[in-house]
Amino acid sequence: MRIAVLSEADPAEPRVAAVPETVKKFKALGAEVVVQSGAGLKAGVPDAEYEAAGASIVPSAEAAAGEADLVLKVRRPGAEELGNFKKGAAVVAIMDPYGREAELKAMADAGISSFAMELMPRITRAQVMDVLSSQANLAGYRAVVDGAAEYGRAMPMMMTAAGTVPAARVFVMGVGVAGLQAIATARRMGAVVTATDVRPATKEQVESLGAKFVAVEDDEFKQAETAGGYAKEMSAEYQKKQAELVATHIAKQDIVITTALIPGRPAPKLVSEDMVAAMKPGSVLIDLAVERGGNVAGAKAGEVVTTDKGVKIVGHLNVPGRLAATASSLYARNLFAFVETLIDKEAKALAIKWDDELVKATNLTRDGDVVHASFQPKAA
Ligand code: NAD
Repeated sequence: MRIAVLSEADPAEPRVAAVPETVKKFKALGAEVVVQSGAGLKAGVPDAEYEAAGASIVPSAEAAAGEADLVLKVRRPGAEELGNFKKGAAVVAIMDPYGREAELKAMADAGISSFAMELMPRITRAQVMDVLSSQANLAGYRAVVDGAAEYGRAMPMMMTAAGTVPAARVFVMGVGVAGLQAIATARRMGAVVTATDVRPATKEQVESLGAKFVAVEDDEFKQAETAGGYAKEMSAEYQKKQAELVATHIAKQDIVITTALIPGRPAPKLVSEDMVAAMKPGSVLIDLAVERGGNVAGAKAGEVVTTDKGVKIVGHLNVPGRLAATASSLYARNLFAFVETLIDKEAKALAIKWDDELVKATNLTRDGDVVHASFQPKAA
């Protein structure tokens, strides 16, 4: 059984799908591991460390993937990469499959069995494989670090001989995995933290982290959570009431971090142009939803925009990638935990159980077809 670890073709992707620790674990399962030279460099892992863990280093993607039974990647393989894979090989990555019919068909046509890590069910057994959580947690942390760096003042209250510096006010909008880590990080840095979400269950979580919850708590709010624990899209009336409350609150904040997402829908617009205009000069907005359309009016993907009034709107892309070493090691562990379930330890070979719920939930293509129920090609 040969496992290949490839360099990411996308220059904006510094993460890598395996680290020396997971290479050793794959070796212990009887696999031969081949790493494309330089694959880990942007995540702080030189070839020599993979070699020391027992991997062989090869010069090209072609040489790495050519004979591999299983290919590990961070992002979906592009058209030029697919030509390198052996027919029937399994490929595991973050596949970003929504609205990508042509790309999924290309993987099917290449004859690979592809698995999307982000479709892993959020059940107890699969918690260790949850890439959405492992990466969102780091994004939440990094959002605060980026916010603090852009903010021209100190975060904690300081009482000095030269006078007192007030604590920064940080407001977190959207309290999922990223938002909770943002609250915890901002608290550790000494800020006064408030947070909001449309899911009532978050109120207690916010308060348990020592932050204050801010929301319109009417009847609609009390029922605003799906059975799966995700946010619902709120009524126009609720959004208006919430916007009014947020508008007065936001004007007093120094750093606002937005993380609000609704599965399968564009990100909700939470901060309007008027709200941005009402903020103090020097205050900072960090929009973690910018890749899904953004929560903040005026946020631009991949840019830091400064408004006429001196408010900064930060729209960094691939925020987990801004902590490439940590993000890679957590992602690599998520991958190992899943791949381990695809291996027959006696035979030391891939033995995918096609009816396992984790396999069914993540498998996009197999034997030339797009097999996932959510991504069936539309009838002509
Ligand atoms: P997400 O990334 O889908 O969304 C981020 C947050 O934005 C959510 O809390 C959502 O309620 C909020 N939001 C949406 N619209 C909003 C609006 N208009 N205003 C304010 N906030 C808004 O969420 P996530 O981080 O993936 O977490 C979703 C849920 O899944 C949470 O309950 C989380 O605890 C749970 N979860 C469970 C597991 C597990 O059981 N294995 C793992 C991770 C997360």
